[in-house]
Amino acid sequence: MVARTLSFVTLGVDARLVVVEADVGPGLPGIKIVGLADAAISEARDRVRAAASHSDVEWPRTRITIALLPAGLPKRGAVLDAAIAVAILAASDQVPAAAAAGTVIAGELGLDGRIHATRGVIAAALTARRQGVARMLVPEVNVAEARLVPGLEVGGVSTLAHLVGVLRGDRAPGDGETGPPPEDPGSAPDLADVHGQDEARRALEIAAAGAHHLAMVGPPGVGKTLLAERLPGLLPELSDDDAVEVTAIRSVAGRAAGILVRRPPFEAPHHSASPVAVIGGGQSGRVHVGAVTLAHRGVLFLDEAPEFPRGVLEALRQPLESGTIRIARSDLAVQLPARFHLVIAANPCPCGRGSGMGSSAGAECSCSSLQRRRYASRLSGPILDRLDLRITLGRPTLGDLGLASEASCAVAPRIAEARARARHRWAQASLPWATNAEVPGPLLRRRFPPDPDAGALLRQAVSGGALSLRGADRVLRVGWTLADLSGRERPVADDIGYAMSLRGVESVWAA
Ligand SMILES: [Zn+2]
Repeated sequence: MVARTLSFVTLGVDARLVVVEADVGPGLPGIKIVGLADAAISEARDRVRAAASHSDVEWPRTRITIALLPAGLPKRGAVLDAAIAVAILAASDQVPAAAAAGTVIAGELGLDGRIHATRGVIAAALTARRQGVARMLVPEVNVAEARLVPGLEVGGVSTLAHLVGVLRGDRAPGDGETGPPPEDPGSAPDLADVHGQDEARRALEIAAAGAHHLAMVGPPGVGKTLLAERLPGLLPELSDDDAVEVTAIRSVAGRAAGILVRRPPFEAPHHSASPVAVIGGGQSGRVHVGAVTLAHRGVLFLDEAPEFPRGVLEALRQPLESGTIRIARSDLAVQLPARFHLVIAANPCPCGRGSGMGSSAGAECSCSSLQRRRYASRLSGPILDRLDLRITLGRPTLGDLGLASEASCAVAPRIAEARARARHRWAQASLPWATNAEVPGPLLRRRFPPDPDAGALLRQAVSGGALSLRGADRVLRVGWTLADLSGRERPVADDIGYAMSLRGVESVWAA
């Protein structure tokens, strides 16, 4: 007799449903699995048989063939275990075939029959709902995650015996284990904790309002990391769809906590992290989600950015342009989401005591001029071109430390208002962008010029050689954000002047 049930495999951050078909018929006892299964799935034979022996079911002592469909889709890992067991039990008349056929079943089986946690259930739930499947049975620990996707009946199962009981209608599915307490909105790091650094705080506000990528240069200990960590708390909360997308990515990476992620994520990989950890990668068909994808719709912070391997910095070019990263290996090619807000920090020079990026040494700097130039040059090119804001931080003075700083809850509403103005402007012009940073320079120049005085200032800076055309585009973009923050109809000369001061000295940066 033939019976089938459903399960899933993840492919990048998406899931594909897999039909698990069991044929139990006359012949020598044994299990054969067909359909591009990897070693872990082939070992399912042993796990499933051992689990069944602890589960009060009758194991068919005959020939069993398992087909995994679609056949061309590579299947990896142990997530199909429970579904394979159910298909066999349905084909040997021990669970109702109809119940098995209409349910997505996920979970790795322990030899003792326990069902262990699995990754990617949110992506699987999204796919199941899209394909009209009504029910999903998942390991108890994953119930909360799967239930983040509305419109699907989700039950938890703790053992193979429990799973069989639920399919027979004898037992109720579990409601899952209680997850950790929901994210406390008050627990985000607050700008009030950063003393002094008024210019940098203002730059962070502008970055948040226009979604501008930001570079901060300054000696160690001046607060670059503190500032970067506070950016997610200034950004608007994620929309419903974005929240599910971001949580699904964490679920695939094994980092979901069963709660919907509402705050934009913050990822800060260390420069010694492997390229796979930062960019993502994979081998033997398995995809590893990197920091650029975990930072999707949030903030990617690269501290000591020049210390990152050049290959890693170069690989950021694609996500910065397209919002996606393509992982291609000999046996696999997937496109992962990677639309992040980039913040980089750098010391002025390798020893950290220099006075400015690539420029003069400063009294205590022990670097040679060649070392300083090399250090600065590692950031040139693709990344530098994308950084609308480039600021220099000095050491705060004693006076700064005594001043009270504005809290994030006071700054965030200004950012939200500026973003709303920008969104309204681009929507009225039937343009697809939501934030100023996304708008291409030529279009901005042609259709959204600043007021005449401001335009004259920009032209002067370009003709005088102080600004490249690309540099002028960046200044204009930031100028629009300044106008949005002030509630002005268009950028005025002051906005453009201020925007110019926020892009650093190009010749030094591009050294
Ligand atoms: Zn130095």
